[in-house]
Amino acid sequence: MTTDVNVRVPVREQDAAERAHNFEEVCYGYNEEEAVCESTRCLNCQNAQCVKGCPVAIDIPAFIAQVKAQDFEQAYQIISKSSSLPAVCGRVCPQETQCEGKCIRGFKGDPVSIGKLERFVADWARDHGIKPVGAASKNGKKVAVIGSGPAGLTCAGDLARLGYEVTIFEALHEPGGVLVYGIPEFRLPKEDVVLKEIENVKSLGVKIETNVVIGKTVSIDELMQDEGFDAVFIGSGAGLPKFMNIPGEQAGGVFSANEYLTRSNLMKAFKEDADTPIYRGKKVAVVGGGNVAMDAARTALRLGAEVHIVYRRSEEELPARVEEVHHAKQEGIIFDLLTNPVEILADESGWVSGMKCIRMELGEPDESGRRRPVEVPGSEFVMEVDAVIMSLGTSPNPLISSTTEGLDVNKWKCIIADEENGATTKEGVYAGGDAVTGAATVILAMGAGKAAARGIDEYLSNK
Ligand SMILES: Cc1cc2nc3c(=O)[nH]c(=O)nc-3n(C[C@H](O)[C@H](O)[C@H](O)COP(=O)(O)OP(=O)(O)OC[C@H]3O[C@@H](n4cnc5c(N)ncnc54)[C@H](O)[C@@H]3O)c2cc1C
Ligand code: SF4
Repeated sequence: MTTDVNVRVPVREQDAAERAHNFEEVCYGYNEEEAVCESTRCLNCQNAQCVKGCPVAIDIPAFIAQVKAQDFEQAYQIISKSSSLPAVCGRVCPQETQCEGKCIRGFKGDPVSIGKLERFVADWARDHGIKPVGAASKNGKKVAVIGSGPAGLTCAGDLARLGYEVTIFEALHEPGGVLVYGIPEFRLPKEDVVLKEIENVKSLGVKIETNVVIGKTVSIDELMQDEGFDAVFIGSGAGLPKFMNIPGEQAGGVFSANEYLTRSNLMKAFKEDADTPIYRGKKVAVVGGGNVAMDAARTALRLGAEVHIVYRRSEEELPARVEEVHHAKQEGIIFDLLTNPVEILADESGWVSGMKCIRMELGEPDESGRRRPVEVPGSEFVMEVDAVIMSLGTSPNPLISSTTEGLDVNKWKCIIADEENGATTKEGVYAGGDAVTGAATVILAMGAGKAAARGIDEYLSNK
């Protein structure tokens, strides 16, 4: 184990060649000895910058101090005051740009591995049957939460802790949002991690009703007028996939990453005995460079394909986490950078046979600050592929906004809500997470769920 205070304790991982053929978790996390050793690198800063980098403001030095003292239960209770999903966040949060990005240790060496310590504490608590502490009594007020992703679960958990009677309504047959239908098993195990954390939220008294599509099964106005809910939180995410609108995109074998991942994750198509069909391609192109593209590519690889990431900018601009790109490369994903599809080609049966692409080069920075990709004239070529997975981002489904009078959205169909307290343009209705910001991150959705819980509490306390 490391003795250099500037170097973090390395984390054990499943061998790349082996894991490319299975869906078991890639990262093993720290054991007790490793976690305690890493915790000693924390300087317990007075004005801890890491906390400022955490959207849910976990008291990071305090929980790490408890890891150092080997009081893991106390460490868990400190984290769970701020976060309902620590085992999830410890695995999928982009810590390098948040808490760890601000850690003072990072100036001279490696920042403290805050995410891996959080994961260790949460897994330890699960293995020892430790639950978060709930409210002593109920306050008699009812709140409906729409969507059971990180935003909804966090808002529901925080309100239950304050004594509210909370019911989550979820459109799918399983709760968890992207945590169950999007992020693959090999990064975020469902049974052992996601479902256990959802059980913890339920243990605070939160009820979850699945297979209820708000806007179809029942409207927001009916929830408030007929079913006695005093306030509503909308955490319905951004699940509507975008496509390129290029010729041939309707061919068989062209999928959105959302559909492809939902088949594998939620419907368990990756299991040999599953009923859900999934296309196990021979050579698959995944178009896009974000976390979702990496997840789709690594899933297709595990299902037996040769996989190419096709991205129009260079490696420097890849929006995916560095760790995800690193893992994808280790496993054998091929990166075709500065390349953009212009047409999908199909065989006589209408199935994808190739993808016509053009080479790109980087020009001047655009409004996002990234250098604009520009086509290189005459550089078209055909990639032979038998499946294409489009991973170009998602936007909120307009079902709720179009069925709720007085709920305003912006031009991207994102619900307009106050960042401070989640208040929308409709009285008593709050919103947060991807439904408001468009596709973002787990921890930002959680931060928004927390802010809305505070907003709802203030609104109902003064009513
Ligand atoms: C494949 C993939 C990988 C990702 N990887 C990462 C990562 O590594 N790290 C990270 O931080 N973020 C990652 N993200 C982003 C992150 O998962 C999202 O930003 C986050 O889940 C948003 O949370 P949310 O609660 O707003 O919405 P969601 O998680 O989308 O949950 C919304 C829920 O609302 C339900 N719903 C929608 N409409 C209705 C309705 N009308 N009635 C009832 N229920 C409804 C949906 O079924 C869903 O369960 C990833 C996203 C994807 C797709
Ligand atoms: S900034 Fe780094 S060293 Fe300081 S308290 Fe936070 S984790 Fe510890």
